[in-house]
Amino acid sequence: MLILISDAFDKSLPKVLEKCGEVTEDPKRMAEAEIIIVRSKTKATKNYLDKAKNLKLIIRGGVGLDNIDVEHAEKKGIKVHNTADASTTAVAELAFAMMIALPNHIVKAHNSMVEGKWIKSELKRTELMGKTLGILGMGRIGTALAIRARAFRMKILAWKPLVYFSDFAIIVNDLEEILGASDYLSLHMPLVDSTKGIINKKSLAWMKQGAYLINTGRGECVIEEDVAEALKSGQLGGYATDVWYSDPPLNSPIVGAPNTLLAPHIGAGTKENMLRIGEIIEKIIREYTGK
Ligand code: NAD
Repeated sequence: MLILISDAFDKSLPKVLEKCGEVTEDPKRMAEAEIIIVRSKTKATKNYLDKAKNLKLIIRGGVGLDNIDVEHAEKKGIKVHNTADASTTAVAELAFAMMIALPNHIVKAHNSMVEGKWIKSELKRTELMGKTLGILGMGRIGTALAIRARAFRMKILAWKPLVYFSDFAIIVNDLEEILGASDYLSLHMPLVDSTKGIINKKSLAWMKQGAYLINTGRGECVIEEDVAEALKSGQLGGYATDVWYSDPPLNSPIVGAPNTLLAPHIGAGTKENMLRIGEIIEKIIREYTGK
């Protein structure tokens, strides 16, 4: 049985999986592979799946399955799995780091010092304590963020779809209401038709002037042009994002807009998470092979 590791994982993964079968990292051998393991880079489209003639199991190391044509895989009898639980802490900690870094101007302060400037009077910070955090997508990562924000004495609201109760947030029915009440808005929804472009010109106008937006969910949940305009006009105080329309972004209006904090899709990329993902992948393969 050939296992193809198609994207970058922890360097220990090939050794771990050798116990289950022959392991290759050569994408040219995809047609021979019975199991293919991907992160975000490999796009397992209809065409890709049709070329993978021997494929029986495809595993995405991460949350969501948006780079796999699940319907087509199922039609072909290919089993599809992900490692949904593994990344919760890694992404929540990045979202929280961004929420601290933005109002404290950490990057601007650092860069100014490296450039030999002393801009103390320009760097007016604000505190998280007492501020309202709105969470769109109160699932695993949204909840982990809420737990951390509560320790910082923030008031936490979560938007309702699919969530009826939370120990860590007040549930709000209406999108306009949660946007209007939030000093910080953090996005943790899956990318589906109803969440695509949910942050747009109209919804940005519902936000408090100068509020901060943090996106470690999916790039396409925001209309980048509208976010860039809101940053320029001051309607948004800042935008921190780890996620883009494409990796890397191409001609994104966010790159170069004022008051941003930008990351190259590193949300899941902690050392600990890569090890957790490896353990879950091994477990899925063992269940599949019965070994
Ligand atoms: P989850 O399934 O536990 O939570 C998602 C929540 O979104 C659900 O609980 C629900 O409250 C809400 N939701 C679902 N459908 C909705 C809809 N149509 N409209 C509004 N809200 C809806 O997922 P999770 O593990 O918390 O991950 C959340 C998202 O984080 C993922 O979908 C993925 O896009 C993103 N993510 C990003 C990275 C990264 O590297 N930055 C890594 C992992 C996950």
